[in-house]
Amino acid sequence: MSTTPGPGRRPGARGPLVLMYHGIGSRPAERDPYNLFVPPEGLERQLTTLVERGWTPLTLDRYLNGDVPRRSVLVTFDDGYRSMLDEGLPLLRRLRVPATVFVLPGLLDGTSRWMARMPDEPLLDAAGVRELARAGLDVECHGWDHSDLVRTDPEGLDRNVAGAAEALADLLGRRPRAYAYPYGTHDARARRAVAAAGFQVAFSVHEGDGRYAVPRVDVNSTDTGATFRLKTSRAYPALRRVSGAVPKLRPALHAVLGSARRS
Ligand SMILES: [Zn+2]
Repeated sequence: MSTTPGPGRRPGARGPLVLMYHGIGSRPAERDPYNLFVPPEGLERQLTTLVERGWTPLTLDRYLNGDVPRRSVLVTFDDGYRSMLDEGLPLLRRLRVPATVFVLPGLLDGTSRWMARMPDEPLLDAAGVRELARAGLDVECHGWDHSDLVRTDPEGLDRNVAGAAEALADLLGRRPRAYAYPYGTHDARARRAVAAAGFQVAFSVHEGDGRYAVPRVDVNSTDTGATFRLKTSRAYPALRRVSGAVPKLRPALHAVLGSARRS
């Protein structure tokens, strides 16, 4: 296996920072019980701050090629919500920030039905997915229908990895290169399937394991300037690990990270 300086770095190593967003848009709290939607003005502030602090936002090509300055960041969006087209694309274009969007070819023009408390959020249709790709965003794979790869049977695993890759290749005219595990969950079987399907990198959430489980930092609607700054600091992965290993420290970290819960 090659050792590019980009993907495959262990958490806390000096590889690129990978941010995980979901939706873009303003939602009342009751319509966004999982805090997934970051308002456009909040996203603009966060991305502008990063660039002003000297971070270089990466295209997926650049990330995969390991063409990465020391402070570089891959901005990713999971699930492929329709608001990505209406609210996300104009903003990202204006800011000239490249982004990678992970979509679900089995749920095109569908809704977020895998979430019990938010089953009706509209997802992109095929035309919308193509439009994002045509506009220069990197459109990649988040599985077929958001099944948890660790819990699915062999046919489900095949459908959500190789099948989803085929469907995206048909839709976009090129093979997807990056995979984001639904729920961030993965095991050796899932990682092997993703590698066998020809993906070059796969992203988890907090738990890393080589280039087929590169950890990402979750950004959500409860983040403030202070929590975003902490989450994008080099100390954050270590802080998270320490707070996981030493339960007594958790309230301290949560006091910082949780102080932004919106009303
Ligand atoms: Zn997802």
